[in-house]
Amino acid sequence: MPFSGGWPRRDKTASRAAALVKAHLRQRQRHTKQLPAGLAPLLHGIDNQRLLALANRQIVAIFYGWGERVHRRQYNQPPLRYNGSMKVDLHCHTRHSDGELDAPALLALAAEREIALLAITDHDSLGAHDELAASGEPDNGVKLLPGIELSTSWRGRGVHIVGLNIDPANKQLRAGIAQQQAAREQRAEIIDQRLAKLGFANTLVGARQRAANGFIGRPHFAAELVARGVVKDHNAAFKKYLGAGKAGDIKEQWADLATVVEWITAAGGSAVLAHPDKYQLTRTKLCELLDDFTGVGGTAMEVVSGNQTHAASTKLAQLCRQFNLLASSGSDYHGPSLPWASLGNQPLLPGGLNAVWEQF
Ligand code: AMP
Ligand code: MN
Ligand code: MN
Ligand code: MN
Repeated sequence: MPFSGGWPRRDKTASRAAALVKAHLRQRQRHTKQLPAGLAPLLHGIDNQRLLALANRQIVAIFYGWGERVHRRQYNQPPLRYNGSMKVDLHCHTRHSDGELDAPALLALAAEREIALLAITDHDSLGAHDELAASGEPDNGVKLLPGIELSTSWRGRGVHIVGLNIDPANKQLRAGIAQQQAAREQRAEIIDQRLAKLGFANTLVGARQRAANGFIGRPHFAAELVARGVVKDHNAAFKKYLGAGKAGDIKEQWADLATVVEWITAAGGSAVLAHPDKYQLTRTKLCELLDDFTGVGGTAMEVVSGNQTHAASTKLAQLCRQFNLLASSGSDYHGPSLPWASLGNQPLLPGGLNAVWEQF
C-alpha cells in the first residue's frame, strides 16, 4: 500500500510491529541497557526489513552498526520520496564489489520496496551495470541510474566518491577503473603481509575465495578472519585489524581526489562525496575536505546515509547549504546479513536542500 501522508496512529500492522519491537527489546536487554533515556524502542537492525514490511514502513527502522544509534525521530518519518511520491536510493552494492546480492536480486528487492530511482554504486567497478546490460535490464518499474563508488585517499584518509549518472562506456572512466582494480590487487597483497605479521598467515587465499567476480576488498579479509575464529564478526574485524588506522587499512594506492572527480566528470556524471560522517573528521577538517572537493569539481554530497544519526544528517545538511552543493541520499546497502543499512529506507532529506536526483 503506497504511503499517502501522515502516520496512522494505530493500525493492525503497526501494532504487530510494535509487539515485535518489544519482543526484541526483551531478548536484547544487554543492548537496551546501554541506550540513553528516550531512545527506546531499539532493536537489532537485522530485523528491520521484516518490521518495515510488517508495518508498511510506518514504524521502525533501527540502525545498530558501526557503534551508532539513531534517534527515534528519524525512523518515524515517512520514506524518502522521488518527485514527491516515490523512493530513491543512490548508494548500494552488489556481489561485483562487497555486496551480498547479485544485480538482478538487488533490482528485484528495489522493486519490492517500490524504489523509483536506484543507483548501484559498487566500489571501483561497473560490473553490475555490465551484467545487467548483457542480460537485459528487467522492466520492473525501477529506474536504474549508472553509478560507481570510487576509492580515493585524502590527506592520508580513505575517502569515497560516488559517481552518478555516468556513461558506463566512457574510456577515461574505464581506464581509471582498471587502474583502481590493479591498485586493489597490490593492496590485497600488502594487507595479506600485514596480517601475516600479526600471526594470520595466507589470509589472501581465503579472501580471494570469498570475493566473487575478482573484486577483493577489506570485507573479504574480514570474512576470512571471522571464518578462522580470529574475531567474532565483521565489525570486530574492522575494529581490530582492518578499520581506519589499523594494520590492514591501506589506502595509499588509490588515485587522488582530483583524479577520481575528473573521471566521473569526464563520463558526464555528478561527483558526490559519500557518507561524509563516516570519516570521523572534525568540523574544520570536514570543511577542508569540502573545500578541496568543490575545488576539483565535486557537485554533491550525501546528506543522508544508512546508519547515520539524525544529528549527523542535520549537521551535513547545514554544510551542504554552506558549500552550495546538491544533496544526495543513499542507504549504502550491502546485503541482508549486513544489517546497518536497509535498501530504500533512508529517512527524508532535511528541508531547504536541492536534491541531486532532480536533474536525472
Ligand atoms: P575497501 O573498499 O576494501 O577499502 O573496503 C571498504 C568497505 O569495507 C566499506 O565499503 C564497507 O563496506 C566496509 N567497512 C569499512 N570500514 C568499516 C568499519 N569500520 N566497519 C565495518 N565495515 C567497514
Ligand atoms: Mn563496502
Ligand atoms: Mn563507502
Ligand atoms: Mn558504499
